[in-house]
Amino acid sequence: MIADKLAQVHSRIASACMAAGRPVQSVTLLAVSKTFGVDAIAEAHAAGQRRFGENYVQEAIEKVAALEGLEPRPEWHLIGPLQSNKTRVVAELFDWVQTVDRIKIAERLSAQRPPVLAPLSVCLQVNVSGEARKSGLAPGEVGAVAHAVAALPRLRLRGLMAIPEVTGDVAAQRRPFRALRGLFDQLRGEGLALDTLSAGMSDDLEAAILEGATMVRVGSAIFGRRPA
Ligand SMILES: *Cc1c(COP(=O)(O)O)cnc(C)c1O
Repeated sequence: MIADKLAQVHSRIASACMAAGRPVQSVTLLAVSKTFGVDAIAEAHAAGQRRFGENYVQEAIEKVAALEGLEPRPEWHLIGPLQSNKTRVVAELFDWVQTVDRIKIAERLSAQRPPVLAPLSVCLQVNVSGEARKSGLAPGEVGAVAHAVAALPRLRLRGLMAIPEVTGDVAAQRRPFRALRGLFDQLRGEGLALDTLSAGMSDDLEAAILEGATMVRVGSAIFGRRPA
């Protein structure tokens, strides 16, 4: 069941890559497992899925512990908001944090990343559609923060992430993704070795891939509807 859904998502990604004239391997699928149980994650893993996104730190701690025996080991991405009192456990547990939006949080993650682990991969979250209630850096702040984060020893700045407002219209979906891509290209032009543009979810992954997304974060199209 989850294997079928995963196959459907992979075929959507392949079609979008073809339409964009991009190789299918240029897009990575992150399975967003928030609110779903460890059985669902194990089922996706058995079907070949290796990268999982979680939003809530406490929930992730329990799932990572319960799934410790899975081989090969899943890669865990934090894609939800991160408060500074949770940075230590996050630096110890996760492989990626996609929601860095303050230098202070980045400094704590770098200081608390255990030396035995590889540097923590991070993305800066950008509020591309400028919504007041949304977290994320304003586009004008991204440059300075990116250069500061890239200089931290125990972090590896991988790129940018955004969660634009949901809209059904493809042209409107593409606009914020294009803005994010513009920032990404600008930072790379300034010498930052970024490889990840994390954008696109179940309902807008095609638009994101057309605008250059290298990682799509897909939950409900794989695991079904989340409980409200
Ligand atoms: C929940 C969530 C997703 C997945 O959303 P779906 O619409 O279920 O695919 C992706 N990114 C973030 C940051 C999320 O919180």
